[in-house]
Amino acid sequence: MDKIDIKSMYLSELESLMKELGEPKFRAGQIFAWLQSGVDNFDEMTNIPSKLREKLQEGYYIVTAIVKKRLESNIDDTVKYLYELYDGELVETVLMKYKHGYSVCVSTQVGCRMGCSFCASGLNGLKRSLTASEILAQITSTQKDRNIRISNVVLMGMGEPMDNLPNVIRFLKLVSDEKGLNIGLRHISVSTSGVVSGIYRLMEEKLPITLSISLHAPNDAIRTSMMPVNKKWNIAELIKACKDYIDATGRRISFEYAVVSGINDSDANAKELAGLLRGMLCHLNLIPVNPVKENSYKKPDRLKVERFCRLMNDLGINTTIRRTLGSDIDASCGQLRGKAIDENQ
Ligand code: SAH
Ligand code: SF4
Repeated sequence: MDKIDIKSMYLSELESLMKELGEPKFRAGQIFAWLQSGVDNFDEMTNIPSKLREKLQEGYYIVTAIVKKRLESNIDDTVKYLYELYDGELVETVLMKYKHGYSVCVSTQVGCRMGCSFCASGLNGLKRSLTASEILAQITSTQKDRNIRISNVVLMGMGEPMDNLPNVIRFLKLVSDEKGLNIGLRHISVSTSGVVSGIYRLMEEKLPITLSISLHAPNDAIRTSMMPVNKKWNIAELIKACKDYIDATGRRISFEYAVVSGINDSDANAKELAGLLRGMLCHLNLIPVNPVKENSYKKPDRLKVERFCRLMNDLGINTTIRRTLGSDIDASCGQLRGKAIDENQ
């Protein structure tokens, strides 16, 4: 019999399990708390009777994320982790320190199948999706490693969250449980390359997370050249889904725009982009593209990005330039795992 992943279980599911085992209900709360504190094995659950620990050991396992590499930035407090999962696969997690607390960027898949031309995560396709517990373990392991409490989460590491939606939804419910890590859904952002079916599915859950859309282009010709997903759902369909999402949830959407020199950074591009976003409850984030060695994209110069930003604000779109953290440690998605794999070959 295959063992069951206990860290992916909701508190209510643990309560049903305790009932089945003839154990008192409060044991479920104790076990849930241990799992959230980041224990790696049942023996660490010191207030659980050894008989019950043995029973759990027989049928269940605890997912872990083991620190394989830890890179600390010399220019800010950013820390980048390469975590090893049970099967040796590697995922990246980035810890950032802001005035209001710690924020962590987690991966949702090993690799990615979306194939965006500017992104290091998708270079070798998708290896596999992460379980809810593996997404959660990136947070519990990081908290344990630094002895801190994380207050904000962004699902912007490796992978496309909408391509692993059932596990992502389970993770969102687990991480926001008051009896668990209790990270409020309002402090969590989910980023998608524009998987429209996933946006509608997530909308049904009515979770007050922030939805972040990687738009990156003002028209279909440019977007399709950067993001194959645009062939399946074009900009019109994506914007329509975003408007429906705002109507259904009342939540502001955040659009991401990776500025690439000579590709999408002209004044005409800014005007076309403003036309798309005008009137929407949204915020636009400009990210100077991080060149990866496998493509020829160039980082725009700072003045050009500032000009684009000013123009967007003048055109009525609330726009800021994303602060780049940890630029000395490849703190951009997919880059570290790519390097680790290169080094091992
Ligand atoms: N798959 C999801 C979430 C992970 S990617 C998505 O695409 O939205 C997180 C963000 O980093 C996305 O906005 C993505 O487009 C951006 N990104 C990826 N590679 C980048 C690069 N080389 N430079 C700048 N931004 C990049
Ligand atoms: Fe995947 Fe996002 Fe990278 Fe595109 S940008 S390949 S969707 S991780």
